[in-house]
Amino acid sequence: MNWLRRFMYGRYGGDPLGLVLCALGLLLALLSALFGSLILRLCSMAAYVYCLFRMLSRNTYRRQRENQWFFHKITPLIRWGKLGKKQFEDRKNYRYFTCPHCGQHVRVPRGKGKIRIICPKCKQEFIKKS
Ligand SMILES: [Zn+2]
Repeated sequence: MNWLRRFMYGRYGGDPLGLVLCALGLLLALLSALFGSLILRLCSMAAYVYCLFRMLSRNTYRRQRENQWFFHKITPLIRWGKLGKKQFEDRKNYRYFTCPHCGQHVRVPRGKGKIRIICPKCKQEFIKKS
């Protein structure tokens, strides 16, 4: 194990982007096996090679920047997924609206008829049926 530690010293190693690349490579490999597509197989291999390149890279600053870029792109998707899950769980008791002025999501009780909503972020009013 000591040789591996020596070999990896100063190298970037694994991160969430590497994990996603590896999962993408596996998914593409499965799809290529299913459809017999050479292009999918090449894309799968490219994902694996890039993942391996990132793990063994000594340019840690660049790899960290790539990982930050990845998180910057994926965060709205994660936030959207969490909001959708919460909206689904609350669907019997609450309705969700988006403020037409600032885009803030507002939760209001369901079944109260036509209501005047004051946005908690920008304090603008809008009327919706809950
Ligand atoms: Zn607002």
